[in-house]
Amino acid sequence: MILISACLAGVDCKYDGENNLREEILSLVKEKKAILVCPEQLGGLSTPRVPCEIVGGDGQAVLNKCAKVMNKNGEDKTSCFLKGAQQALRIAKLYGVKSAILKGKSPSCGKGMIYDGSFSGKKKNGDGVTAALFKKEGIKIVDEESFKNQIK
Ligand code: SF4
Repeated sequence: MILISACLAGVDCKYDGENNLREEILSLVKEKKAILVCPEQLGGLSTPRVPCEIVGGDGQAVLNKCAKVMNKNGEDKTSCFLKGAQQALRIAKLYGVKSAILKGKSPSCGKGMIYDGSFSGKKKNGDGVTAALFKKEGIKIVDEESFKNQIK
């Protein structure tokens, strides 16, 4: 079973109440090969919500309590992101998930590249909080751009 960021399958769970639909990814759900999660909703954040970015590091640093996830209004949402990552992992384990297609650049789901915490559109190297936790737990992660060659 594959785990997919719910917004990639057309679920309106994005911070602005919209989605990031990719038809080829939705097909995996229709074929019953995949389950959907939105870590930010699982962490208790509302939709729509004020956008968040990781400040002072990446998702790995957040897991190590060396960085925070702040929203654009300057409120600390780190605990919601940690809870969402843990709940997403719980679901992944219940379904025996070995690989995940996660939405790139998100402070939760991003793999390898995320927004840099300045809310200016700039990016930095690193994973989102859920992506970092999944990696730590041995779940293979790809983003929506590169999944075709890597996940069947
Ligand atoms: Fe999509 Fe992940 Fe953001 Fe939820 S947390 S909207 S699944 S990128």
